[in-house]
Amino acid sequence: MHTQYESRDDLNDSKVLGLINGNIYVSFKPLKRVKALAIAYGKVIAIGDNDYVRRIIHGLGGEVIDVGGRTVIPGFIDAHLHLDGVALALKSLDLRGTRSINELKSKLKDFVDRNPDLEVIYGRGWDQELFIEGRWPTRYDIDDVVDDKPVILIRVCGHAALLNTKAMEDLDLIRSKSKDVIRDEKGIPTGIVKESIIDMISSYVKGKLVREYDRYIHDAINYLISQGITSIGYVSADIKTVNTLLRLTREGKALLRIHAYLDLSDFEKFLSFMGSPIYSDYISVVGVKVFLDGSLGARTALLTKPYNDDPQNSGQELVSVNDLTKLMDKAFSNGFQVAAHAIGDKAIDNAIVAYGKVRSSIKRSNIHFRIEHASVIRPDQIRKLRELDVAVTIQPRFVISDWWVVRRVGTERVKWVYPFKIMKNEGITIGLSTDAPVEPSNPWETVYAAVTRGSLDGIELSKYTAYEALSISEALHLYTYGSARVLNVKDLGKLLPSYRADFIVLSNDPLVTKPKELRRIKVLEVWIGGLRVK
Ligand code: ZN
Repeated sequence: MHTQYESRDDLNDSKVLGLINGNIYVSFKPLKRVKALAIAYGKVIAIGDNDYVRRIIHGLGGEVIDVGGRTVIPGFIDAHLHLDGVALALKSLDLRGTRSINELKSKLKDFVDRNPDLEVIYGRGWDQELFIEGRWPTRYDIDDVVDDKPVILIRVCGHAALLNTKAMEDLDLIRSKSKDVIRDEKGIPTGIVKESIIDMISSYVKGKLVREYDRYIHDAINYLISQGITSIGYVSADIKTVNTLLRLTREGKALLRIHAYLDLSDFEKFLSFMGSPIYSDYISVVGVKVFLDGSLGARTALLTKPYNDDPQNSGQELVSVNDLTKLMDKAFSNGFQVAAHAIGDKAIDNAIVAYGKVRSSIKRSNIHFRIEHASVIRPDQIRKLRELDVAVTIQPRFVISDWWVVRRVGTERVKWVYPFKIMKNEGITIGLSTDAPVEPSNPWETVYAAVTRGSLDGIELSKYTAYEALSISEALHLYTYGSARVLNVKDLGKLLPSYRADFIVLSNDPLVTKPKELRRIKVLEVWIGGLRVK
């Protein structure tokens, strides 16, 4: 019926379009379902029954498509993912679920043998908690496999990495004095690096991909679209990737709606030559992303009280309240949003204090401040965020990946971990996301995790907090309209008249699918702005 479109020039004749005989969810809250909808110039112009929509489309001289009873929902909006990270991950070694250092070595060997042309070996997803050896891996482990080209293996959380000796030398880390270069008892770097070094690594890897980079990003965009994602919040964007996106958009190749939040160092640069955000149908630069703390996995998330399984350690403060206040002031006064990564409750305290200082000086019609993750959040903080109208992006699949979290925080704080339902009931603006490539970008994995909360996967957290599971319609509402609110976009996330016609056609109706079957739902077609892109 429709073929894959190559560029937007091919699409001019499908400007007016009617879908009839559908099971079309135009909104999940309030839940509203129709049989037909009419689209003109990229937007929904009418919804209703078949005859009504057929009449409108015939009047406008458009095309009517019979959906054959299939389910149509608004496209997924992933409010927080790392587009460049997804691009690299698509061409990298996947180490998720690796159960030993030996298994890691054999996966590395296999990958290197299959990809002899790669100049740098990049992988991610390992978790030392799963290793039967019961220790962190070292550079000597992987030097055994590859010693002639750099190997960089990012931990599952994205806040620590394992490098071989060649990569340590290339990056000049052997002699580095940084506290983020981990050393053994003799003071010799082990090959594990953390936090501040990770940013350096990603620009190092991208620097090695000069010629291929546009294709990497284009492939990542198509990969996300194929999974039913029609808009993203692209966090920690760098100017190199933004330039690539602008180039792809000009060529008609970037049909995903991308809302970029610049990383801190590139924000200063962007501000000095642009001065304000940029907005367009496909690529917008809307904010700045800042890391207030690290991760629970690496025990660098900033907690008020020490870790249950590391009583001397309360995590790392990466930005002071003072510096955050200054950044907010600068961003808000130039019209940018601030997205602050805050996982531990102390990091959230810092965010609240800083925002409290600058908030009175800004207009409040939009979301200005969003907190990313809010993994360990106290009830008093939830109320405060509601009062201050701060948005939160959550990643329900962390519930399954962070299977060890009860050990980290202890049973007294367990009720503060991923309190999705309580935050929703409190009325906080919530967007759903995957943090891909930290979690798989497939939206059904996230819906499944939000709805089951790990109860089908034997996750300890679910025994304490089963009541925090979302219903399917709640998850879908937050993954569409909720995420659009977080991104400050008023015409995405529903299929009501005047909203943009971003929708997906599904193999099954998720609202009548058993939770354990959710991950089997297939995305058959993807439409963005009334144009078919899958
Ligand atoms: Zn992230």
